Amino acid sequence: MINIGGLTPLTTTDFPGCLSAVVFCQGCPWRCGYCHNPHLLDRHAFAGVAWKSVLDFLYRRVGLLDAVVFSGGEPTLQKSLIDAVKEVRKMGFRTGLHTSGAYPDRLNSLLPHLDWVGMDVKAPFEGYESVTHVPGSGEKARRSVELIVESGVNCEFRTTVHGLGKRDVAKIERELELLGAGHYKIQAFRSVPGLSREEDRQ
Ligand code: SF4
Repeated sequence: MINIGGLTPLTTTDFPGCLSAVVFCQGCPWRCGYCHNPHLLDRHAFAGVAWKSVLDFLYRRVGLLDAVVFSGGEPTLQKSLIDAVKEVRKMGFRTGLHTSGAYPDRLNSLLPHLDWVGMDVKAPFEGYESVTHVPGSGEKARRSVELIVESGVNCEFRTTVHGLGKRDVAKIERELELLGAGHYKIQAFRSVPGLSREEDRQ
C-alpha cells in the first residue's frame, strides 16, 4: 500500500491548466539541502494519511477536479505508486507526477499511465552529487530526462536556483537541449521557515 505523507485538496499550479489535488508520497533517496519537504524524506515515517481516505476524498471530487498529481518526497521510490496512479485514472482523473528522476526504470513503467510530468533538474548532470549528496544521481536524472522525452508525455523541466551559478544554469539548458527536452523553467529558491539544514542557514 502506498505510504502518503499529506494531501493538498485543491491547487491550480501543480498541473498546468488543471484543477488538481496533490498527493504527497513519503520518502526520498536524495538529500538536497534546500528541500522544501524535509518531513517527507524518511521512507519509513507514517503521517497517518491512509490511501483509502485519499480515495474516499477523490470519489467525492469526481467531476469537480481535473487531475491528481503525485508529488513528494520522491513518488517513484514506492513500487506501489503505479497501482495508485492506475486507480485514480480509472476514476476519470488525469494523472500528473512531480519527480526528481531518481528511479528511471520505475518511471519508465509509469509513463504510459501519466498525462503530465514535472521533473526537477538540480544541476548539470556531472554536478548532481554536490546537490543530492548521493553518488550516481546525475546519471539517473539524465536517463529519466531521456525516458520522459522519448515517451512524448506532456512535461516540464525546471531548476530551483540555489547554490548554482549562471554557468551551471546555462550548462543545464544546453544538456537538456541536447536531450531534446523543451519546456524548461527556472524557479527562484524559496526559504522554508524552521528548516535547519546547513545550506538554508548560509
Ligand atoms: S529530491 Fe526533492 S524531495 Fe528529495 S531531497 Fe531533493 S528536493 Fe527534497
